[in-house]
Amino acid sequence: MAVSGEFDVAIIGGGPAGISAGIYAARRGLKAALFEGKLLGGAVNEASEVDNWPGVQKAHGMELAQKFAEHLRTFPVDVKEERVEEVRASPGGSGGEGGFTVKTTKGRYGARAVIIATGAKFQSLDAPGEKELAGRGVSYCATCDGYFFKDKRVAVVGGGDSALSSALYLSDIAKEVLLIHRRGEFRAFEELQERVREKAEAGKMRILLNKVVAEIRGKQLVESVVLEDVETKEKSEEKVDGVFIYVGAVPLSVLAQQLGVQLNEKGFVRVGDDCSTNVHGVFAAGDVTGKLLQITMAVAQGAQAALAAYSCLREKK
Ligand code: NAP
Repeated sequence: MAVSGEFDVAIIGGGPAGISAGIYAARRGLKAALFEGKLLGGAVNEASEVDNWPGVQKAHGMELAQKFAEHLRTFPVDVKEERVEEVRASPGGSGGEGGFTVKTTKGRYGARAVIIATGAKFQSLDAPGEKELAGRGVSYCATCDGYFFKDKRVAVVGGGDSALSSALYLSDIAKEVLLIHRRGEFRAFEELQERVREKAEAGKMRILLNKVVAEIRGKQLVESVVLEDVETKEKSEEKVDGVFIYVGAVPLSVLAQQLGVQLNEKGFVRVGDDCSTNVHGVFAAGDVTGKLLQITMAVAQGAQAALAAYSCLREKK
């Protein structure tokens, strides 16, 4: 396949990190392409509410993601709605010396530097029944699927920020939310915990601590969850119509791996302070690096990666 475009920098991923990298690359006069196979804004689209982005007191995730995308489009960045299938050092060069080839669902592109901003996805629980009932009541995105559970009973699994913020979001839609956590205390930040306690007191939520999901049951659709108490090992069954799983994040680092980029023990991309990786000409930013997993951090890293790519390309000239 002939090369359909040559760029200074290819940014892979259109979440906050990729968008910020695009803006900073354009501001430095780099010819940048940004590849996103789904929605610009990435995981921000899935946030029920964002209240920690300075300048915006409270916004629905999708609303903020749209603003990010609109802002990006005011810069001369070639936004390509294409999923990247492969990135390799171009033949005849390694480690950025000969540049890189980006192969997508629609074409093949050359780039002198690459910024990986591919993000992370929600971890599965690996409970019996979970895979079989995925999309039939088992979900990993409350903002995408919550509405299907209007006036129904749902379970939310996990004790971090994602689980508690999703449980709060669902409690305004569902008849009742069961918040199931494997320990006696949550790891989510205190304000979220306080709001969850208030919902529980108001009878909109039931908090079930020290319980793990032993099974998700249902014929066509989710019908119940079987819980096991971690201390007594006693089992109980709760009738629910949906199960929302928020038990952590796993990096989407396959493309980084193809480039020979070093990953840490959890599979996140190892980066230096300037967001460079061990492969010359390759940088990474955002959730794929596993650092803090916050929009603010992703945006900062995206900017840093673009500036580091700029310095690297200037040295090469
Ligand atoms: P997380 O903080 O890693 O929390 C995962 C939760 O799932 C923990 O409570 C953990 O239990 C539980 N868990 C893990 N494996 C489990 C298993 N096999 N069975 C049952 N429970 C299990 O993940 P997250 O909540 O998705 O958050 C990820 C990152 O995104 C965090 O840095 C978070 O701050 C950030 N985030 C921020 C916001 C916000 O600022 N509003 C919103 C969403 C996410 P233990 O507690 O026992 O380990």
